[in-house]
Amino acid sequence: MKNIAILGSTGSIGTQTLDIVSQNSNELNVVALSAGKNIKLLEEQIRKYHPALVAVGDDKLRDELKTNISDLNNVEVLSGMEGLLAVATFEKAEILVTAIVGMLGIRPTVAAIKAGKDIALANKETLVTAGHIIMPLAKECGVKILPVDSEHSAIFQSLQGEEHNTISKILLTASGGPFRGKTWEDMQNVTLEQALNHPNWSMGKKITIDSSTMVNKGLEVMEAHHLFGVDLDRIQVVVHPQSILHSAVQFEDGAVIGQLGTPDMRVPISYALFYPNRRPINGEHLDLFKVGQMTFEEADLKAFKGLALAYKAMEQGGNVPTILNAANEKVVAKFLDNQIRYVQIPEIIHECMDNITFIDNPDLDQILETEKLTYEYIEGRY
Ligand code: NDP
Repeated sequence: MKNIAILGSTGSIGTQTLDIVSQNSNELNVVALSAGKNIKLLEEQIRKYHPALVAVGDDKLRDELKTNISDLNNVEVLSGMEGLLAVATFEKAEILVTAIVGMLGIRPTVAAIKAGKDIALANKETLVTAGHIIMPLAKECGVKILPVDSEHSAIFQSLQGEEHNTISKILLTASGGPFRGKTWEDMQNVTLEQALNHPNWSMGKKITIDSSTMVNKGLEVMEAHHLFGVDLDRIQVVVHPQSILHSAVQFEDGAVIGQLGTPDMRVPISYALFYPNRRPINGEHLDLFKVGQMTFEEADLKAFKGLALAYKAMEQGGNVPTILNAANEKVVAKFLDNQIRYVQIPEIIHECMDNITFIDNPDLDQILETEKLTYEYIEGRY
């Protein structure tokens, strides 16, 4: 039996992780869960999976949840960052699934690594901003960082047994999102509804907007750089609208090894939880005759300014990826709240990158300080 803890159990990745648990209840046991606001769903999860510890966003929700589950014994309920840290480091857990959204995941992930937990990492914002701290720390603590992001899982799967071979290129695929083929001018009046309408993947709102701007792909390039130690100029974004090839690796001899499948996040989640083994997953499996055709094209960096900015942030290094990420989190939240227009997303990110003080090789405190300064910069102006 493997004991798992989940940060963000009520979200898209969190609920799909619990689906994998249900399909493998003889092998996986849930010991700790965290949610933000959705205490109704969390309560259902508590009654179904019997964790010993749960955490919610704030004290008020904690008290409400405690009342709602007062008939249950032995469930500890915590809140806020204290709760996230307790779930991340819960003694009985062997592996932590980081399915929380945003930079909020950094401190719990670092704490879990220090406590010796393997990490099934979905929360890419953590690696984008603190990859230079997290990857060496994981090595030092002897814990595995197992990618959950579908592209990175595909790369990870393609690298199995290839430890002694040199990677010449990572081919990071991108669906292109709902606005593939559109120009910057075409996107001036994009609505929230249009941006949330992803053609292939059903995901949480923040990552769905990030996919539409292709900022998500920029974050993924940074994530791949940290996970696989490959320089940025050897990570090629390949737009592949069918989302069947989930990414690939090209080796020195020109051979390309990739992973294909239907777009189903439960595959990478299950692979991370059972690595290096695989388990059956219900649902539709890939039928190449039904797919028929797969196409590949270059990303349009003029239209998708967010992706171009991500490359710029990576080249500048230091705390600039944090500025980009924090600015993106803030402006996406504002767009979701109808406070700014779609095309302002990359514009405001750019403005933040130009105006917030550069710090080389930032430590954890400086990363969190940069996040705060970026949020303040945007709040003061938009
Ligand atoms: P969702 O928005 O669906 O879920 C986010 C989770 O985080 C929810 O459980 C939410 O709780 C919780 N949460 C949000 N804010 C807080 C807070 N302040 N305190 C505590 N918990 C909080 O996101 P996704 O599942 O889509 O994404 C999660 C991560 O995985 C992201 O980093 C994303 O980039 C990455 N990812 C997602 C993919 C996908 O297919 N969805 C694919 C690849 C990567 P609640 O709902 O209860 O408020």
